[in-house]
Amino acid sequence: MVREQAPGAARCGRPARRLLAPTATTQDQPQPVPGPGPGREFGDDDARWHAVLHRDRRADEVFCYSVLTTGIYSRPSCGSRHARRANTVFFPDPAAAERAGFRACRRCRPDQAVHDARTEAVVRSCRLMEAPGQAPSLGDLAAATGFSRFHFHRVFTSLTGVTPKSYAAACRADRLRRVIPGSRTITEAIYEAGFNSSGNFYALAQTLLGMTPTSFRNSGRGVRIQYASAACELGVLLVATTPAGVCSVLCGSDADSLVQRLRDQFPESGLTAADAGLGLRLAAALDGAAPLAAGQGIPLDIRTRALEEWLRSALGKARPYPSSTPG
Ligand SMILES: [Zn+2]
Repeated sequence: MVREQAPGAARCGRPARRLLAPTATTQDQPQPVPGPGPGREFGDDDARWHAVLHRDRRADEVFCYSVLTTGIYSRPSCGSRHARRANTVFFPDPAAAERAGFRACRRCRPDQAVHDARTEAVVRSCRLMEAPGQAPSLGDLAAATGFSRFHFHRVFTSLTGVTPKSYAAACRADRLRRVIPGSRTITEAIYEAGFNSSGNFYALAQTLLGMTPTSFRNSGRGVRIQYASAACELGVLLVATTPAGVCSVLCGSDADSLVQRLRDQFPESGLTAADAGLGLRLAAALDGAAPLAAGQGIPLDIRTRALEEWLRSALGKARPYPSSTPG
C-alpha cells in the first residue's frame, strides 16, 4: 500500500543486502527534518528506539525496525524480545526494509498489519461517533484508537473522504431526522439527537434538514423538492434539494426505488425530477469524491454515510447559507 510518509521521517540504517550495521557516516549525517505529520514525534533514532522499547503503537505507521542479527523487521509495537540497540536499524516503511534484505516478522506481520490497524481505527471511531449522546472529541477518538490526534485525523480523512468532525455531524443529523417524526416537540427532538442547545440547533436547522424542522416533521408539507440521481461506486445515489438546501441523500441499487423512498419520506411535498443543473452538480460532486476510493475495507454503511455527508457539504456550498460541517 502507498503511505504518505514524510520524506526522511525515519533515517535508514545501511544494512543493504548484507545486513550490515549502520556506518559512522550515516550516524554523522545531519538529522532529516521531519515534515508536519506523525513522523515529527519519531524524528530521530533515539526517539525511534524509545518508541520500540515502549512498544508504542502510534509509531507503527511511521517506521519499522530491523534486527541485524536475525534479518527480521518488525513494527515498533511488536511483542518480540528486543534486540540490542547496536543491532537495531530503522526504516521508513516495510518496503524499504525488504529492499535491504530483511524479512517480515511472523509475529507482528509488519507487511500486512498496518492497513488493518488504520481500518480498525476508523471503524472503531465511527461506531463511537454513531452512539447516542454527545459526540466524542478528537482527543477521545484518538485515544480510543491508540493514534496521535494529528495522525488519527489524517488516517480517518484519507480513508473516508470526510473529517471526523464531519462524520460526527452526519451521525447527529441522522439521529435528528430519525427522532423528529416521533417526538412530541422539536425541542425534545433536538436534545434527543444530542445537540447542546436549541439556539445552536436553530442556526443549523435548515442546513441539516433542507427545510424548517416543522416542515420536516410535517412530511415536507408545502415544500418544493427536486431530485436527481447518479451512479457511483456504491450503487445509485439520489440527492433531493429544496430552495433551502439538501433535504435527502439516498443510496441504493436503482433510481426508481430511491424515488419511492423519497416519496415515502416526504409524502406531503411537491416532488419533481430536477432539471439538468442538479444532475450536473451531483456528477461534479461525485467526481470530487475520489478519496473514498481509498476506503477499501471500510464497511459499506460507513462509506455510505461519509459519501452522503460529502455530498451534502459539496452541494450545500452553492447555497446561500453556511455549511453544516466546517472543518
Ligand atoms: Zn514483530
